[in-house]
Order: sequence, then C-alpha cells, then structure tokens
Amino acid sequence: MAGQSLPQWPPEITDEQREALTLRATTYALSHGLVYLPPADVQPPVPTSAIHAPLALFPSPFPREHFELARRLQRDYNVLYARIAMDEEFLDNVMGAERGVGRVDEFTGQLWRLWKRLRDQGISQTRHLGLFRSDYLLHKEGEDAPLELKQVEFNTISSSFGALSQNVAKLHRHLLATTEYYNTSPILRLENLPPNDTISGLAEGLAAAHKAYGSPSAWILFVVQDGERNVFDQRWLEYELIEKHSIRVIRQTFGQLAVSAEVVPVSRILRLRLPGSLPRGAESVEISTVYFRAGYTPKDYPTAAHYETRYLLESSAAIKCPSLQLQLAGGKKVQQVLTTPSVFGRYASGSVIGDTEGLRRSWMGMWGLDEGGLEGVREARDQAQNLVLKPQREGGGNNVYKSDIPPFLDTLPAEEREAWIAMELIRTPGGLGNYLVRAGGGTAGAIKTEVVSELGIFGWALFGGPDGSVEEKEVGWLLRTKGKDSNEGGIAAGFSVLDSVVLV
Ligand code: ADP
Ligand code: MG
Ligand code: MG
Repeated sequence: MAGQSLPQWPPEITDEQREALTLRATTYALSHGLVYLPPADVQPPVPTSAIHAPLALFPSPFPREHFELARRLQRDYNVLYARIAMDEEFLDNVMGAERGVGRVDEFTGQLWRLWKRLRDQGISQTRHLGLFRSDYLLHKEGEDAPLELKQVEFNTISSSFGALSQNVAKLHRHLLATTEYYNTSPILRLENLPPNDTISGLAEGLAAAHKAYGSPSAWILFVVQDGERNVFDQRWLEYELIEKHSIRVIRQTFGQLAVSAEVVPVSRILRLRLPGSLPRGAESVEISTVYFRAGYTPKDYPTAAHYETRYLLESSAAIKCPSLQLQLAGGKKVQQVLTTPSVFGRYASGSVIGDTEGLRRSWMGMWGLDEGGLEGVREARDQAQNLVLKPQREGGGNNVYKSDIPPFLDTLPAEEREAWIAMELIRTPGGLGNYLVRAGGGTAGAIKTEVVSELGIFGWALFGGPDGSVEEKEVGWLLRTKGKDSNEGGIAAGFSVLDSVVLV
C-alpha cells in the first residue's frame, strides 16, 4: 500500500475469537507489567495488586512512510529543542515573567522566576538532559488531499508511556504469534510490526547523563507524584538502570524531598539524607541526575515550599531532566512562536538541523490569542469549528475545542489572552476502528468503536557541556488510540488506550 489509503479496520472476528483474544491480552498484560496501580481508594500504602493498562486488541494501521518520517524528524527535534533551551534571551522574551507569557500565566511565571533566581545566584550545572516525546496525528486537508503527518505537541517534561508502549508492542506480537489473529487480515504479519525498544533507549539517556556527571557510585533521583498510578511505566526504567547500567534509583515526592534533600555548600553536590533505608548503614546518597516525573503541573506545587524544593534541586550540581529552562522550552507558546518563519529561520540556519522543511511541514497553523490587537481573538471566534485553544499546561484536559471556544472567549479576561494559543485542528481520516479493553469501570471486555490514533516518538538529548555538542538519539515510539468522539487523548485521564502500529 502506498500509505495514502488505510485498510478497513479492525478485521471481522467472531464473539468467541474476541473473547479469546481479550483473555490472552489481559493475562499477558498482567504477566508482563503492562499494568497500573488500581484507583487510590482500594490501594494500601504498599501496593498488593495491579490492574492491566487500557489496551487495544489489534495494532492500528499506520502508513509506513509517515512512521519513518516521524522517526527521522525526531533527531532534528532533539537538536532544535536543545538549542531553544540554551537560548536564554528567546525564553525570556517568550516565556518570561517580565516580557513573555509568564506575566499573565501564574505557573509559567513561577517556573521562570525560579530560573531567573538561579541565573542570578550562579548555575552549578550547565548540562541538561531531555527525555522527549513528539506527538503526531495523521491529517487530511480535504477529500482528495494526501495524508500528512502533523505534530500535536512536543513534550520536554515527564514524557510518559515509553515503557508501557514497548510492552504493548510485545503484546500484539504475542497475539500474532499465538493466534495469527485468526488470519483475518493479510497485513497482520510480523514484518509489519516494527520493534520498539523504548525502555533501553530512555534508560540509556539517563545513563548518559549519569556518566557525564562523573561519579559512578551516585544514584539517580526520580521525582514522582503523590498517588501516581502509572508507576510501572517508571519502574521499568529503574529496573533497566540497575540491571544494565548498575545505577541505583531512589523515588521521592516533593514532600519527601523537602525533608531529605540538601545541597552541599561550595561543591553544590545534591545529597539525600535517608538514614535507616540505605545499604551498608549509609546516611545519605549523592545524586547524579534528577528525573522529573512530577513538577509539570501547578497541582504538584500546592505550597510555596514545593517551589522551594524544586529550586533546591535546580541549584545543585546534579543534571536535571529537564532543567527549568528545558521545561520552559516545551511550552505550547514556544511551539506556536516557532511557526513564525523569522524565528524558526534563526534556529534552522547552519547545518545543525537536517530537514528544516520536514519540521516546517509537520506544523499546523497557530497564533497567539493576543496577536494583532483584537485580530487574534476575532480569528479564533470566526474559525472556532476548525480550532483548539491551548493554555500553557501539560497532562491533558486543559484545551478548549470548537463550539466551546466562543463562550470561552466571552469570559476570558483580556489580559489572560496572551497565555493561550489557537491551533488549527488536525483532521484525522475516519473509518478506522479497534477493540478497546479497559479494566473495571463496569465495562469489562472489549468494546468495538471508531478510533483516532496519536503517534508519539521518543528521543533524548544531553547538551550544555563544555564542548557545546548535543548528544542525542531517537529511541522508540508510542501509539495511543482513543474513541473518535473524545477530544482529548490522555490515557491516565481514562480517555484512550495503549496501542501499537501495524505498518501499511
Ligand atoms: P497536553 O500537553 O495536555 O497533552 P496536547 O497538545 O497534547 O496537550 O493536547 C491534548 C490532546 O488534544 C491531544 O492528545 C489530542 O488528542 C488533542 N489535540 C491537541 N491538539 C490538537 C489538534 N491541533 N488537532 C486535533 N486534536 C488535537
Ligand atoms: Mg499531549
Ligand atoms: Mg504535553
């Protein structure tokens, strides 16, 4: 297939076949750590059970050429975002609390002020690590237009589902190996199911930072959320780090770090004091790398003390994944400003980025609501049916879509417009379906529904060292599939399932 048309999907199966596949899928998921913690109310402090992650029974068709393009572009995106994160003037102008979005968006302003304070007091670690995920949907401009790959967003903090996406790709291979999917489709062949080694790839990024830090016996700190249910996605990285790299990991919340973390004067070494819980009676451990799986939403900072804990970590010599400035570089506002030719031209110049045209073509139209006096708002009103509005937030559930836009604009205070971007809707071709399987919630069993799939490509970049180089890699992929009528794609929020690709 040329990739310009997608097959009828999913293939027809009988009720018995669906039940057999569902049983295989859920038991395989539970056996192989494709799991979540159950909801908090049934979960003791030390977990005793897990539930399988929401999943698709069949892999979903995805054009090979667009899959390969997304993987190629990741190398350029890694370099692009490393360059943006190093551009202090640009970030001050776009995200800052004096000249940029941070003036009107409280959370962005908080993060920027921490970063400003850090610069005023002296940066102790110039290197940064990013574990990135660039997300895409397929787009069709019109009836006869070709399929295109369009970027939804670029994540620079807490990019999740790397480990679980590897496990779901293995699940679909297992279903193929054991049932041959009942020979229901000629495209369901092993050579169309690409490998996915995201766990080793992401762990390699963390290990590269650890090595650059240069103290082999130090540990890596995972900063995690209270009540996190997606812990296994993180644990897989921890297991890989100890088993393949002999690097130990400690998990702590901001609340725990308020008590345990200290920065040694002069050396700026980050140490966690954990008496009674360390090997060989040690009182504290040195931290080489701080990996944030928390800190991307204001909910993670319920008090000023939480911001102070973030500041303490940032002020240390440990390498941060991401640093405050790399987190700010991932703002939706940055994504929008990049679509301005003169801005992108500055980053695209020179030979550092290979496929500048490819990057440009992956973008939808975007603008700031505060642009051109009232022009930005007027355009958003006029084109509402074709738009999504996004604030400077991560984690799903924050956007405003289509017919909700005009009433939303009626109530949005003029001074807050700057915090929002308008983005053209990516129009994903219809006609694809799948069987979605969720644990609990009264919907046990597989439900057949029309779906939309969002591709994520993982990559990492380590940069900011004395030689000015960017060490980077593309390391794997994720497919999240949601019911066609749900606007948002967050798995954790219960809207979508983990899936993998069958290339067509
Ligand atoms: P977040 O950082 O909260 O994940 P996203 O930009 O990824 O924010 O938006 C959340 C979801 O909204 C996406 O996963 C996608 O399903 C949908 N979405 C976002 N932008 C677009 C768009 N331009 N066209 C269609 N759907 C979109
Ligand atoms: Mg997203
Ligand atoms: Mg995001």
